[in-house]
Amino acid sequence: MRYLPVFLDLQTGPVLLLGSGEFVRAKLRVLLAAEARIRWYATEGEHDVHGFEPAQLARIEFAKGDPLTADLTGVVAIFCAGAGDVGVTMSLRAKSVGLPVNVMDDLAHSTFIFPAIVDRGDVVVAIGTGGTSPVVARRVREKIEAVLPARIGDLAKFIGRFRKSIHARIPEMALRRRFWERVIDGPIGALVLSGHRDDAEAVLKGIADPSAFAGAGVSGKAKGHVALVGAGPGDPDLLTVKALRALQDADVVFYDELVSPEILDRIRRDAARVPVGRRVGKPGIGQEAINKLLIDAATSGQRVVRLKGGDAFVFGRGGEEVEALRAAGVAYSVVPGITAGLGAAAQFEVPLTFRREALRISFLTAHKAADADIVDWSTMTDSKMTVVVYMGMTAAPSVRDGLLAAGRSPRTPVGVFARVTRPDAQAAVGTLDQLPDLVDRIDGGPAILIIGDVVAHSAPWRRQNLNQVISDLLETAQ
Ligand code: SAH
Repeated sequence: MRYLPVFLDLQTGPVLLLGSGEFVRAKLRVLLAAEARIRWYATEGEHDVHGFEPAQLARIEFAKGDPLTADLTGVVAIFCAGAGDVGVTMSLRAKSVGLPVNVMDDLAHSTFIFPAIVDRGDVVVAIGTGGTSPVVARRVREKIEAVLPARIGDLAKFIGRFRKSIHARIPEMALRRRFWERVIDGPIGALVLSGHRDDAEAVLKGIADPSAFAGAGVSGKAKGHVALVGAGPGDPDLLTVKALRALQDADVVFYDELVSPEILDRIRRDAARVPVGRRVGKPGIGQEAINKLLIDAATSGQRVVRLKGGDAFVFGRGGEEVEALRAAGVAYSVVPGITAGLGAAAQFEVPLTFRREALRISFLTAHKAADADIVDWSTMTDSKMTVVVYMGMTAAPSVRDGLLAAGRSPRTPVGVFARVTRPDAQAAVGTLDQLPDLVDRIDGGPAILIIGDVVAHSAPWRRQNLNQVISDLLETAQ
């Protein structure tokens, strides 16, 4: 993020507008919507005001003379649109006195850029693309326009009117926030959004005990809660809607080392973030300690998210955490995530089941050779079973040996899929006898192993075969 979005108060002084033609008229419309006082220099010909209302014109000062020598005292910002070279020279002057300046379609001469705007009264959304693509910004705006209720601005205004009185009645901040969330998400919010503001006001005023309404227990403290959330394998777009909501609602997030930075970016800005996983070369704080952190945070009234890579109930120790929470009487919920095996299957097109070829799937872990040794490989003799191995990189030789001993063919297709759904995802495919070599070809984990005939349908396998066919053809041609 190179450009920080801020909201400029245009009531505090005039803005300078330079330019002529349709571009300047478009800027005029936006600035008038923001109730700006506008000092407008037409850089070519006369000020063209057709189509504007008299009330709007009253806020425009039709400036004469040379803007390059004009007095800039009290000016809030400078906008140039369709101003040609005058705009560029004005930009140099604005920069020399430290005034924010925007020259339309000219990043080099602008100190701020103009976002695409969703305008719902008090609720305004600004969308920027760092000046790279206004078309993308407009597409994003269309999406936001589609999901934002028309009266969301009314809702903000409504809450604004009661903020002070509720502040006095609920001193504790976390509880206050929850009060407003319940207002917004419940019948009161629905009334405002459907245009029944007076009814909404009556219901709000009828709340006898705002703390109780916000969900406070007998102690007057908010009730805490732990959401066990699966973060998926890395791509933030693979978070579920529920997971995203939990991240946006959290007071504190305890996360594992597998959770990608892009997903941490989706956490509410002022929530505390606590890493509790293993770091490179350092052990984690241990499951007992994590359980205690979760319980303590929830008991103190916080909304806690326990964020784990993939799914919490697939080799994620989520079961143990839920047991600890239950024993401590802490309220919890579980939000599933896309487990790494499914992420790999989707990204690299490995159909885990396939008509008559693959009828069963086994998910197993082979963390250490010792784990691989206790796996009962004899249950995996069925060639119609796809085997998905977690934490299997170091134990790859034992996995291979186990499956060969169980009678699986050394020619069984296998794939090693690393950092799946992340920008640097990687795959190596081959046959079961080559499994440890394939792992060696990967530049670091985490990686999942998939073993079974279905790997022959995968995209990397098809690509590899195609390359083979081409090099064979080239060889015969020589
Ligand atoms: N709960 C997680 C699994 C945790 S065990 C889940 O459901 O996905 C850790 C193992 O998961 C890693 O050793 C690796 O085998 C696998 N894994 C996790 N994230 C991965 C990713 N992005 N790409 C490939 N494998 C991954």
